[in-house]
Formats: sequence, structure tokens, C-alpha cells
Amino acid sequence: MSMAAVEPDHASARLDAIIVGAGIAGMYQLYRLRQLGLSVRVFETGTSVGGTWYWNRYPGARVDTETMFYSYQFSEALQQEWDWPERYPAQADLAAYARHVADRFELWPDIQFETRVDAARWDDAAGLWTVETDDGTQVTARFCIMATGCLSAVNYPEIDGLEDFAGETYHTAHWPADSVDFAGKRVAVIGTGSSGVQSIPVIAEAAAHVTVYQRTANYVMPAHNRPMAADEVAEIKVNYPALRAKAKQSFSGNYFPVAGPSALAVSEEERNREYEKRWAMGGLAIMATYADFQTSEAANETASDFIRNKIRTIVKDPDVAELLAPKQLFLCKRLCVGTNYYETYNRDNVTLVDISETGIDRITPEGVCVAGHTEPVDVLVLATGFDAVTGALKRIDIRGVDGLALREKWADGPRTYLGLGIAGFPNLFTITGPGSPSVLTNMIPSIEQHVEWIADCVRHMRDAGLDRIEAERDAETDWVTHVNDIGDETLRATCQSWYFGSNIPGKPRVILPYAGGFPAYTEKCDEVAAAGYRGFALR
Ligand code: FAD
Ligand code: NAP
Repeated sequence: MSMAAVEPDHASARLDAIIVGAGIAGMYQLYRLRQLGLSVRVFETGTSVGGTWYWNRYPGARVDTETMFYSYQFSEALQQEWDWPERYPAQADLAAYARHVADRFELWPDIQFETRVDAARWDDAAGLWTVETDDGTQVTARFCIMATGCLSAVNYPEIDGLEDFAGETYHTAHWPADSVDFAGKRVAVIGTGSSGVQSIPVIAEAAAHVTVYQRTANYVMPAHNRPMAADEVAEIKVNYPALRAKAKQSFSGNYFPVAGPSALAVSEEERNREYEKRWAMGGLAIMATYADFQTSEAANETASDFIRNKIRTIVKDPDVAELLAPKQLFLCKRLCVGTNYYETYNRDNVTLVDISETGIDRITPEGVCVAGHTEPVDVLVLATGFDAVTGALKRIDIRGVDGLALREKWADGPRTYLGLGIAGFPNLFTITGPGSPSVLTNMIPSIEQHVEWIADCVRHMRDAGLDRIEAERDAETDWVTHVNDIGDETLRATCQSWYFGSNIPGKPRVILPYAGGFPAYTEKCDEVAAAGYRGFALR
């Protein structure tokens, strides 16, 4: 294996590793593999780093995980020197952070922007991946690492007439770099997931009128965003290692206090006091209040009802409040965090249209037609989300041993070992791939755990003189069964959500992330590595 010998020369067609994607995952993977002396090139469709935080420039876009903890922890110097302005900083701050990381660790020379990877083909005889980009260039490497993102494959909905709309159309996840002027305009927003929840209040402040098309109502916690206080920042920075370690021991990789094992083990008064506390705290912390939210419907309903009642107290029109009150269980779909979300429906210039039964008939050149009525609009905002977790991988024509197509292998749902490796696809790693905790956790710690596991594995192979690693079929089957069993047991299985692929017509209904929690998952990964990468065939 020529790892240490190959210079990172962009003119050369042969590298040790190719990384696809320059978001949080691809950037850190580049850093770690370069530290091992590998020649690496990253391919990225966008024009800069940051991934999610490069593309999602819609009004109101911000993180909903406390950013002091939604940030890299691999470099103590980095986490000490960087100052976050707010509890939940905006997209531009996250994008600036990503650029700072690229500056600080000199990542830029090894990232090729405005380059989409269209295909990746494994040559078993040569033990190499050949990657083809959208300009037809082919590059080969021993390893191929997909850092393509869980929420990066944009979902343009299949609505008749969408192409014929005569006004401006924007997707939240593909927002133009220049700000959009809504002044005096009639706007339609389709979608009320996290992106809709964040953008609707901000658009409503600028536009003449906003019509929101809601297929499913979501639970929205108030963000209570605020500037970070200097003493709070200092306190966290002094205690960073301990706080980060504590977060890693929690189910979602966030440090949220747990009030107790069961919502049903305490009185209604005590429970509601606890929920009120978390409503006042804001953000996602309510998720962790009681440990049985995913196992007991009755326990879950107590939190569902608490939020439904909050909606009824905030929204003045009782009919609108009922439409906004979610029918599915709390945490079945991704919990949203917003600022003035429910309050926005009290504005005179905002109308909510329920499309849960009817869907949208069609988009006409003039506007949006539902149940035979066309609402004329000037701007159409699609907040319709992503082909999550598998979408970005399946959009690349990935071929493994004997030309096996990943799209074919995953026709009935993804199959991976630990969400890191795939039988039939040697030397291919997926960062936060399906079957890993990914989107059910604070994603930066999950990304770091994968990047470090992959880098350690590559180092192990180099030290042991090995150059081929492939997940074993039996290990993969056992893992897929475990992931599906756990997924089917949780109350997440009781509704339609992107966690199960339900938002994409024709996508198989299979749980995409591993729902067994971050600590159990990392323990399993560590055990596998300690046992000489048990379940992987190395040679
Ligand atoms: P991404 O950031 O998605 O980066 C993947 C990159 O790969 C993209 O730049 C893409 O252009 C590139 N790419 C994909 N396919 C190709 C190809 N074929 N060729 C070349 N390049 C390709 N997570 C949290 O934990 N907390 C949050 O608060 C949070 N907020 C979010 C807000 C929004 C609006 C969204 C969409 C997601 C949010 N997430 C959040 C999830 C977020 O995606 C992750 O936290 C994290 O940023 C993912 O990083 P990544 O590098 O794995 O993927
Ligand atoms: P999403 O959660 O999938 O929401 C998409 C919305 O569009 C849903 O309301 C969906 O309805 C609706 N929709 C989709 N197709 C439709 C169609 N054909 N007709 C009508 N409505 C349609 O997508 P998202 O809001 O972009 O969020 C995706 C994920 O990204 C989040 O869950 C979260 O993990 C992350 N995110 C986080 C933040 C944050 O606050 N930090 C912000 C944005 C995104 P149904 O529910 O009925 O399918």
C-alpha cells in the first residue's frame, strides 16, 4: 500500500483516499486521513465548505442544538478559541465556522469544489475505487469515503404543474446566496417540518401575505434563542471535556437532564411542572424528560397533550389551533424548534391551509390549487425536505464487487454493517450511513465518532500491511435485523416520517437511523474494532 508515499497532487489521477462531500464530516475526515500521511482529495458540489450550513440559507435557518455542543470537539484549541454569538446561531455563523475550520487546518487545497461525483466503481483485481465526476474526470483511490450527508439530497415534491409556475420558486435547502425580497409579495409555503417552522415567521414579517400548506402538523418547541453570556461561555469552556464526556453518555449525544424513568410514575402536577420548566428552557430538552416516551403510548400522550394545549393557548382562532395540534405522537416525527411559530398564525397576513386529506391538486402558473380553489401567489417556497439518509448515496451510481449496484442492493431498504461498511463494497465507508444513530443524535459528535473509527481502521490496516476491508454478509444481516427490530419497537414506527422514508413516494418503509442510542452504538463500534474489526473481512 502506497499511502505515505503519494503526494497530494491534484494533477495525479491516483490517491490513497477520496472523500465525497465537504460538510462537517468530509472536512474532519480529510484532516484525520491527512494526519496519517495519506493523499486525499475531497469532491464537493457546492462552492464552499459547510454542507448543510452552505446550502440551507433560507430566512430563519439556524441550528436547534445548543451550539456550544453542536461543534467539533476534536481540537481543544478550536473549541477554546471559537466564540458562538447565540445559543442557536444562524446559518451564516455556522457557515463562517466551517470556513474558519478549513482555514485553521489548511483544508482548502485538498478540496475540489463545484464538482459532483456521479459514479464510483470498485475494481477488485486492482483493489481500487474509480470515481467519476460530472465533468467526466476519473480519479482512483484505495479508499472511498462517502461524507455525502443525511439531509443533503433535496426533495422536490411531485406536484403537477410545479414547472409551470410563473412566479419565483425556491427550495429551502437550495436557497440562493442573495437574499430574496418578499416585500409586497404573496407567498405560498409548502411544508411545515423544521425548515418551514423556522422560515414561516420570518417570511411573514416581510411578505404581504403568506399561505401555509400543511400536510402534517408538527410539535414545535420555542427556541428561546438569546445571545451567549460571557460567564456562561467561560463556564462551559472550562468544563468542556467533562461536559462533552457526559453528553456522549446520553441517548442522543446531547446532555439533557432526565427527570425520571416514566412519565406515568409521577403525578400529573409534577409532570406538568417538569414540562413547563422545559417549555421555559426552550429547545429540544423536553425530549429527554422521561425515558419511556418511545415505549409507552400513555406516557408519550402526556407530553403530546401538554404541547397541544400550549398551541391552544397561543393560537387565537380555535379552528386554526386544532389544525396546528399534531395528531401523531410526540417524537414520532422530528421535534421542531421555532421562534414565534404558533404566534405567527395570529397575524392577519398568514393563512393556514390544511391539505392532510386533499393534498395539492396542482400548481398553476398563477398559484396553488387545493380542492378546486387556486390561491394566486407571487413566490412559492418549497420547505419539503430531503430524501433522507440514503438519498445522497443512491444518487451516485456506486458499483461494488462484480459490478453490484448499491441502488439494487438497497432496493428494499438500506443494508449496512454499523452504518459504516457494506458487504460487496470493499474499502467504502459511509459517515453517518443508514443503520447508525446519525439523525437521532446531536450529529457532530456522531460524525466525529465515525470519522475517528474510520481513521483508526485505516491506520490499523496500514500497520498490519492490509489493503482490503469488507463487511461480512452475516454481520451485516445481523446488524440490519437488530436495527429494524429496535426501530419497529419504538413509537417512531407509529406514523409516517422521513425516519422511515415515508416522505418519498415509492421509498421502502424501513427505519433509516439506528434507534438504540449513542452510548450502546459507540460501545458496539469500539468492541468491533478491539476484536480486530470483527464482522469485517480484512486481507
Ligand atoms: P452535509 O452537511 O449534508 O454535507 C454533505 C456534503 O456532501 C454537501 O455539501 C453536499 O453538497 C456534498 N455532496 C453530496 N453528494 C455529493 C456528490 N455526489 N458529489 C459531491 N458532493 C456531494 N443536526 C444537528 O445535530 N443539530 C441541528 O441543529 C441540525 N440542524 C440542521 C438544520 C438544517 C437546515 C438541516 C438540513 C440539517 C440540520 N442538522 C442538524 C443535520 C445536519 O445535516 C448535520 O448536523 C451535519 O451538518 C451533517 O454534516 P455532513 O457533513 O455529514 O453532511
Ligand atoms: P421535513 O421535516 O421532511 O418537512 C417537509 C415538509 O414538507 C413536511 O411538512 C411534509 O409533510 C411536507 N411535504 C413534503 N412533500 C410534500 C408534498 N408533496 N405535498 C405537501 N407537503 C409536502 O423537511 P425539513 O423541514 O427540511 O427538515 C428535515 C430535517 O432537517 C429536520 O427533521 C431536521 O432533522 C433537519 N432540520 C433541522 C433544522 C433545525 O431547526 N436545526 C431546520 C431544518 C431542518 P409530511 O410531514 O406530511 O411529509
